[in-house]
Amino acid sequence: MEAVRSLLVIAGPAGWIPDSGRSGGAYDLAVLRVESLAEAEAIAGGRSWDVVAFQAERLRSAGTLEALDVLRRVAPEATFLAVTSRPDIQEAVDYLKQGVYEYLEEPLAPEAFLQSLAEAIENRDAFREILSLNQTLESQKRHLEEEKRELERRNSELEAISRMARAVSSTLDLQEILDQLAGRLRETFAYERIVIGLLDPKTSCEEARVGVGIPDEARDATLRSMRWPLRDAKRHPWLNTVLREGAVLRVDDPSTDPQTRSTPLADVHRGPFAKIPMVARGQIVGSITVDNPLSRRPVAEDEMDVLRIFADTAAMAVENARLYQTMRDLSVRDELTGLFNRRHFLQQIEAECNHSERHASPLALLMLDVDHFKLFNDGNDHLMGDEALRKVAALFLRNTRGIDTVARYGGEEFVIILPRTTKRNAHVVAEKLRRSVERATFEGEEALPGATLTVSVGIAGYPDDAQGTRELVERADWALYQAKAEGRNRVRTWEAPLEAQTG
Ligand code: GH3
Ligand code: MG
Ligand code: MG
Repeated sequence: MEAVRSLLVIAGPAGWIPDSGRSGGAYDLAVLRVESLAEAEAIAGGRSWDVVAFQAERLRSAGTLEALDVLRRVAPEATFLAVTSRPDIQEAVDYLKQGVYEYLEEPLAPEAFLQSLAEAIENRDAFREILSLNQTLESQKRHLEEEKRELERRNSELEAISRMARAVSSTLDLQEILDQLAGRLRETFAYERIVIGLLDPKTSCEEARVGVGIPDEARDATLRSMRWPLRDAKRHPWLNTVLREGAVLRVDDPSTDPQTRSTPLADVHRGPFAKIPMVARGQIVGSITVDNPLSRRPVAEDEMDVLRIFADTAAMAVENARLYQTMRDLSVRDELTGLFNRRHFLQQIEAECNHSERHASPLALLMLDVDHFKLFNDGNDHLMGDEALRKVAALFLRNTRGIDTVARYGGEEFVIILPRTTKRNAHVVAEKLRRSVERATFEGEEALPGATLTVSVGIAGYPDDAQGTRELVERADWALYQAKAEGRNRVRTWEAPLEAQTG
């Protein structure tokens, strides 16, 4: 079934006007005839016309070009055929230049008109095809441009991710990792405020560690206020969401959102914010919080995917840094007491003696040994002996300074480096340590003479008593031997033999 073509005719009665239904070749025609341009405007507008044929005389009073404008409004998609019994060369030129398809002269045989009509329709179809092809190309071009923009966006996201991955994996220092993460977040997303918190596995509490976009004078107080114990999750539903379930929290209005209303978060964030958990190997290690307190700009939903990648990449770096710290601890620590081990002590005493020389400041070395510990072990089981050693170690730690190195030298023997300490002051410290052990009660100490666990202490000073670290250790050991020989539970300081003192 061929399509029906619609023909609008503006003319008086004329022999060339075909009837409706009459086949115009390969198609059927629907024909409407009106007498004037005004009538065409009144009744033919708003319909779809394939061809408009008009007697030029009927339009002359409106002016050639103006009349064509009116026709184009009435039939915007049509092809035009002009017919005239009084041809005018200028009019013909004007019409043809303006895209009228043909300027036909009356008398006009019906077949001749139909021939022109068929060509006009063909021309119009070709034109339409080109038009629609053009539209398809346009829309394909738009689509490709959109795809290109999307690819460019993805590409810049990937670049940002790889930059941040490189930054956070270039260090094993925890604080440095968090600082790098905050810097990259700011660079990529331009958030006004970024806070990064880490979950402390010991306390089950998230502590804010980095704050960017907070005035210097307020930073410490702000970070301290962002401390979230997991046990508060009943009152603060968002804690469960982020730090237990590991889901992203994105809130537009914290004062009404069911996760945050009437919680401290509603005070911290007066506007939209997002909290993204940091997850490594299924463990939640902390969270990133971002907001824009100045502009109140919402945190975009479509940024969440990339933020999660940032968060998880950083989480992995945090885990690695912690693992590294644990391994380093293992290599310098004594397993039973948690004090430094002998290897670390030997490194440390070298470093401290060098430092002492450079700064001309004395240091003292204490060597401490548990008295009659063999008896203690014989009278109790070995585990109780271990427990006693742990307790002695704890007492040594509690009664020394942060700059002192307290180490287990081996068995029931300990060493303590006291930097910037004279022998006289070292004696005071040693006495304090000796007394603290004597006063403490140890399970099983009834097995010992006097039913009291005690230590003996030897002291040597650097550089007074020794020229090198080896000699220093020997002399502290010698003083310890003196303390043992004189009855134990006492402190002795190394003294140069008499002939050396006089000679
Ligand atoms: P002294 O007063 O002369 O130092 O006598 P002592 O018995 O303490 O000295 P000795 O060197 O004869 O014995 C040390 C004992 O310490 C022997 C060993 O069983 C015990 N000991 C060493 N290391 C450990 C340890 O890690 N755990 C336990 N339970 N005992 C240990
Ligand atoms: Mg001993
Ligand atoms: Mg010993």
